[in-house]
Amino acid sequence: MFVDVGEFDARFLRKLKGEFDESHLACFQCGVCSASCPVIGIEAGFNPRRLVKMARLGLKRLTLSSEYIWLCSMCFLCGERCPQGVRIPEVMTALRNLAVEEGYIPEPMKRIRRLLSEAGRLYPIDDFTAEERTDRGLPQIEAEPGFVKRLTGAKP
Ligand code: SF4
Ligand code: SF4
Repeated sequence: MFVDVGEFDARFLRKLKGEFDESHLACFQCGVCSASCPVIGIEAGFNPRRLVKMARLGLKRLTLSSEYIWLCSMCFLCGERCPQGVRIPEVMTALRNLAVEEGYIPEPMKRIRRLLSEAGRLYPIDDFTAEERTDRGLPQIEAEPGFVKRLTGAKP
């Protein structure tokens, strides 16, 4: 992969340092993280080693606009095995936070946020579920539109 040097963004590197503890700077690209990652079995293009490298190189646009930063399942397998102690899931979280700040939010994530804002859950309670709960003597589940606000303090 060839990268234009104009893609380097020093401010992005400084912001990443502010969000994170810089353990990613110790990465020596051994690939143990990628070899350990279960997500690669589902999406071959996902590559945590490459994402750490892109972040280290200060490639802000390419890193934050990558859909791959959203695919990490936070299983921590890579972090447990990394010989350099890079806490990759935390790197992913930092990248996601910065991506949101910069407006790089994938459409499915926007939909998830909207659903959580509206109902406090990702799927509506349909008649079938409501009836099942009644039959089993369980209380009905009410929509909880304040859920996201309560979690984040953000406007729903
Ligand atoms: S396992 Fe650690 S050192 Fe090796 S490539 Fe992944 S992040 Fe870098
Ligand atoms: S934490 Fe993320 S990058 Fe690391 S192994 Fe799990 S899914 Fe892969």
